[in-house]
This record gives sequence, C-alpha cells and structure tokens, in this order.
Amino acid sequence: MLTYSHQNIDQSDIEAIVDALKGEILTGGKKVEDFEQALCEYVDIKYACVLNSATSALHLAYSALNVKNKTILTTPLTFAATANAALMAGARVEFIDIKSDGNIDEKKIEQRLKAKSEDIGAICVVDYAGNSVEMDEICKLCKDYNIPLIDDASHALGAYYKNEKVGKKADLSIFSFHPVKPITTFEGGAVISNNEELIKKIKLLRSHGISKKRFWDSDMLELGYNYRLSDVACALGINQLKKLDRNLEKREEIAQFYDKEFEKNPYFSTIKIKNYKKSSRHLYPILLFPEFYCQKEDIFQALLDKGIGVQVHYKPTYEFSFYKKLLGQIRLENADNFYKAELSIPCHQEMNLQDAKFVKDTLFDILEKIKKGYCG
Ligand SMILES: *Cc1c(COP(=O)(O)O)cnc(C)c1O
Repeated sequence: MLTYSHQNIDQSDIEAIVDALKGEILTGGKKVEDFEQALCEYVDIKYACVLNSATSALHLAYSALNVKNKTILTTPLTFAATANAALMAGARVEFIDIKSDGNIDEKKIEQRLKAKSEDIGAICVVDYAGNSVEMDEICKLCKDYNIPLIDDASHALGAYYKNEKVGKKADLSIFSFHPVKPITTFEGGAVISNNEELIKKIKLLRSHGISKKRFWDSDMLELGYNYRLSDVACALGINQLKKLDRNLEKREEIAQFYDKEFEKNPYFSTIKIKNYKKSSRHLYPILLFPEFYCQKEDIFQALLDKGIGVQVHYKPTYEFSFYKKLLGQIRLENADNFYKAELSIPCHQEMNLQDAKFVKDTLFDILEKIKKGYCG
C-alpha cells in the first residue's frame, strides 16, 4: 500500500538507536540536550524543549502562557490535539474559519479581535500540510492586541516563510515527531522559542515541576507531568534531522510533478504554494469539485482498492461529538466545504516519480468513471 505519508528509517537510524541503547543512560541524559541543540541550529532559534509528543508540547505551551479561563482562537482544520491541549490547560476554545489553502483566515482573526479581545489568552495557528500561515499579518495582530501566538508547526519542520524557517516567528512553536511527520522519534514533539523564561517553565513542567537543589534535596514548584523524551528517541531524532533536507527535496519533487500534471484538470483543484513560502509537503491535498462531494466514499474506496492509501485531513474539530456537547453545533462554511472536498494523496520520500504517475493515472481514471451528481 502506498500510504499518504511515510517515515524514513535506514541503517543509519538503526545504528543510532542501537548505539544509544548500549549507552549507560537511556533517558534524562545528554542526547536530550544534543537533540534540542540540533533543533535550535536547524530552525535558527535560541531554545528548544523536546517532549514525548506534540500533544504534550501543546499542553505545556498553553500552560506556560497561563491561558486558564481564557479563550484560545484556533483553526478547526487540524488534528484534535491542537484544541484538546488548550482545554487540558483550562482554556476555552473558539474556532476561526479557514481560507481555501486550509490555513486559518487572518482577516477573520482580525474581525474577532476588533469585536472583543480582552478574553483571548492566545492564538494557535497550524501550518496546514506544511504550508506556512500568513505569519507577518498574524504576528502584527498579536502584537497590536498584545496576545501570545503559538504556531502548531507539527506539519512544517523544514518549511520556509519569507526566507526563514517556520517556527521562528511565534512566541512558541510546536513540532511533532510522530512517524507520519517530517522526522520521527517514534512518538515525540518539541516546543521552540526565543523566550528563555517560557522554555524554562516548559522544561520544569516536563518533569513533574520538580527542580533539583542539593544532593537528595529537590523542590516541587509546579504541578508538573512526565512528558520526557528518552535518550534513545533523541538519538533517532538527531539522525533523522540530518536527513530531513534530502527527504524534503524528494517530497518537493513528487509534489511538483503533481502540481504540473494536475493543472487545470476537470475534477479537482490543488493548493498553490505562494512564491515567498516553501512547504514541507507533509501532505499533498487535492480538493474535489463539488460535483464529486457525494461520491467521496466511493473514490476513497476505489483508490484503496488500487493500493493507494489516501486519507482525509481533517474532519473539523467542532464536528466531533465531544466538541458538539461542549460548544453546540458550529458551522464554518469554508472548513465544512474543505472537509467535503479534501483527499490527501501519497506524497513522501519513500516513493518515486513512477509511483506518483501511477497515483495520477489511477486517480484520473477513477474520477472519469465515477458518476457525477450534486449532493441531495
Ligand atoms: C500530529 C499533530 C499533532 C499531535 O502530534 P502528536 O505528536 O501525535 O501528539 C498536533 N497538531 C497537529 C497539527 C498534528 O498534525
């Protein structure tokens, strides 16, 4: 099965893991700091804290910003954890609609802030599919209204916005190292920042809120967690990071093939990456035209039958039962339509152009044969 995304594990990763396993210290050792340092150098930022998942990273990012009883503005077009972690930190969540590229609509953020802004604890954006949000506009809003910004860049390690790596501009930026993401540490995540105090606080919360004093004596300053990432996982992360640029190039090659082949086709549109951005191409989303919305299950099944492992990113967070109970039924038009239209097709470094051509031919073939018809 050609999956929509895939990890890259080779002999060098295996050796890095085996080496770390033979070491004296399996967790809480120097590999953790080394991985954090490597991330800082890669993104060109001052501080990093690695954690056992991006969900933990988001939870501690929100917590460090003291968002309790405040409202978080975020996108519904993301993995559930983006909003869940805000709730875990005691905040309320309010969803802002997206634009046609799947990213949060900065104009709608502005409208919301103009109407009322004192209740906002933070804004959390997501660089959907690895394509940066409009960072300058969003940072300006955050500055004008004095609101902290979290960038859930779980998709976007290695992506660029105006010649800078994604993750540099927000107060806190998040990466995920789940196997489908740009690099993996099995499970894992990170928070990066230029703000030393925030990263210090996050590091304290990562390990029970306990700080060592002298010999056996320690003090617990905050109610913390065990969100640590092991040295073995960090050893893998360090090696993965070395291969990231090469893998991103391969993803870009597949994505550019699709971009070209899909231009002006009669079935779906694709997302154009603006010339001042470079996507990590974590996902390659196609957006079916409305006459195919009602056939999406059939299209999905037909692709699976041909060995093409597509996925849908994402069911808007407010559509989950839990959120319906919490917030009532919400309708955001663009997110609703995006969900109806979207399919993520295989795009990763483990496939070649032949595979991409197979995906293209099969997709066109299926869409040509499928019965069109507007829903309802
Ligand atoms: C994957 C993902 C997460 C959660 O990552 P984990 O490391 O699995 O906890 C959060 N936000 C986004 C946007 C993601 O894609």
